[in-house]
Amino acid sequence: MKKIPQRLCVSCRERRNKSDLIRVVLLADGRVEVDPTGKMPGRGAYVCRNNECLEAACKAHRIEKSLKGISQEGMSDQLKAVMDQAETRNTTSRKPESDLLGSSGSAHTHMNVTEDKILSFLGLATRAGQVVSGADAVSAASGKNKVFLFIVADDAAEGTLRLLKRISEDKGIPLRRFSGKNKLGLCLGKRDRAVVAITDKNFADQLIRLLNEYVSAE
Ligand SMILES: [Zn+2]
Repeated sequence: MKKIPQRLCVSCRERRNKSDLIRVVLLADGRVEVDPTGKMPGRGAYVCRNNECLEAACKAHRIEKSLKGISQEGMSDQLKAVMDQAETRNTTSRKPESDLLGSSGSAHTHMNVTEDKILSFLGLATRAGQVVSGADAVSAASGKNKVFLFIVADDAAEGTLRLLKRISEDKGIPLRRFSGKNKLGLCLGKRDRAVVAITDKNFADQLIRLLNEYVSAE
């Protein structure tokens, strides 16, 4: 029998197959980051893919302690998002591992898309360096044809919305309204953000899919 790699869960302290655990990695700057692929470089800690272990780990900051790292805002939302992706992956079947959300086709996902889930995905995209925010930075990036999606907060100023709509039409970049300035800013680790631009095609496609399901679910 082939030996499956085993890792220790920081919550229940049991050894499990690596694939049944979510990996969190210690970054060079001391922050800890959820590693949806399980392949990010750096020292890792693991937690079971279940609510009990996950919540216990977050509440007691067990992951940060085990890695001696600094905890991040929204860590538990990220962990939950990764866990839900895994569930989607297990209940359907044909899922490439590189597909963060486990939903490469838009038609047959049964995921309950919430605002928090989208925000935490946006947080992942931010830490992957694929998000630009603030009206000036966003229009500069779109001038260089680097933008694949605009997200404008529901409470953005009229002038900001008008500017972005114009760029969106000129360049054929999709524009979606979503959430509020405060929440968008928070998930980027910044102050209020009325405008966010996604600079990676894959992240943009996945966000559009999530936003479509989010809107149609309401
Ligand atoms: Zn556990």
